[in-house]
Amino acid sequence: MSGSAPHVIVIGAGVAGLACARGLANRGVAPLVLEAADSVGGRVRTDVVNGYRLDRGFQVLLAGYPEVSRQLDFPSLRFQPFHPGASVRWQGAFHRLSNPLRQPLDASATLLGPIGSLGDKLRMVRLTHDAQHKTLCQHVGGPSTSTRDVLASYGFSEAMCRRFLFPFLHGVFLDEALATPAWIFEHIWASFTQGAVVLPQEGMGAIPQQLATGLHSASVRMNAPVAEIDGTRVTLVSGERLAADVVVLATDWSTAATLQGTPPPSSGRMAITVYYSAPQPPLSGPWLVLNGEEEGPVNHLCVLSEVAPSYAPAGRSLIAVSLRTRTPEPDQQESAVRRYLAEWFGGAVDAWQYLRTDRVTSSLPPLNVLRPTAPTSVCELRSGLFACGDYLSTGTLDGALWSGRITADAIAERLGVPQSA
Ligand SMILES: Cc1cc2nc3c(=O)[nH]c(=O)nc-3n(C[C@H](O)[C@H](O)[C@H](O)COP(=O)(O)OP(=O)(O)OC[C@H]3O[C@@H](n4cnc5c(N)ncnc54)[C@H](O)[C@@H]3O)c2cc1C
Repeated sequence: MSGSAPHVIVIGAGVAGLACARGLANRGVAPLVLEAADSVGGRVRTDVVNGYRLDRGFQVLLAGYPEVSRQLDFPSLRFQPFHPGASVRWQGAFHRLSNPLRQPLDASATLLGPIGSLGDKLRMVRLTHDAQHKTLCQHVGGPSTSTRDVLASYGFSEAMCRRFLFPFLHGVFLDEALATPAWIFEHIWASFTQGAVVLPQEGMGAIPQQLATGLHSASVRMNAPVAEIDGTRVTLVSGERLAADVVVLATDWSTAATLQGTPPPSSGRMAITVYYSAPQPPLSGPWLVLNGEEEGPVNHLCVLSEVAPSYAPAGRSLIAVSLRTRTPEPDQQESAVRRYLAEWFGGAVDAWQYLRTDRVTSSLPPLNVLRPTAPTSVCELRSGLFACGDYLSTGTLDGALWSGRITADAIAERLGVPQSA
């Protein structure tokens, strides 16, 4: 090892690792961050390809996430908001379903439209109230109740579930069985309804880039995969060895298990996104469009350039199509999607140009590794070895930020570093 040992080594420059590193840097502890990939961000990265901003799989930011407002500088991310609601494709037409409190002009279309009964809209108000006041879990029999059972407890009609709630929640949880526990549902539903759903102007990758700003560039080493951890000593794949007072394992759940010498848990939840460029937007406005038809390979789609014009070059539109889990084989996906969407948009799809398919097999952690968060939930695996990551919380960007922050707090306390103002 050359030079003096850094006090802290953070393994992984995803959102959790960066939040941890930044929390430490803010207190004057200069951590060394070791990242296996060629850039920061982990699962949140944006590629700029011929003027299109392609996030690595369709993803959005909920401005209502508690850690997002705590840790991110909103103005510099220049948020581009989605419409507060969704457009549902059902029986050959698009039907708008908006949050009437945030979009009063859509109230009558929402209340009287065919996507669920008036009673369903009132149930939605109650569900939202309970999620925001954190009483949802106690109403549905406890935090481990499945999302599917939560919807049944609130009495939503079959039509409301099949046309709106199932495709919407599948898109959020990547879990077609809706086995996601109520404590996660409560947190995410509250966040969805308490703030806008947005894209940063420069793409989702701007989020980790912002977190990395302020860390000394020399303190983040790319292309530096860690092969082994022994106590608080780290060996890189290259053979290089480094030592520290504290090591933070900020990788995904599977790599974290491998580096601890335990078998990785079951695989994570998959997302498949097909990107197209079009000469014209197939529909106008910043809408999330849900497939309420219960058939076809598409779960939802979005004309991203209608949300954030910066996602496509001038005169072109960028469309992200998210697929259902049970979907055709990879080599038939694109043609199946195009054929299906021709039923929605007619011959215009013939002019669409296929850009790429992002198939992210482990987009979200497996449900069985997630655990309810508490202020005391810092994960110290053994003396001097901490872990942080989305899987130690809600399995979301918010959870990753939270986990990184509380880990930095715990380490600062351990090292006797005063809390920042
Ligand atoms: C397609 C998709 C859609 C999503 N949609 C949403 C959404 O809409 N809303 C939401 O809240 N969340 C969403 N998520 C989830 C969110 O992106 C993650 O919860 C969050 O980014 C996880 O951050 P993390 O730091 O915990 O883990 P990761 O991002 O996995 O970071 C781990 C880092 O460790 C690095 N690493 C791994 N092994 C090593 C090693 N041996 N040595 C050094 N470094 C290593 C990795 O390269 C990576 O940079 C989505 C994710 C995907 C992929």
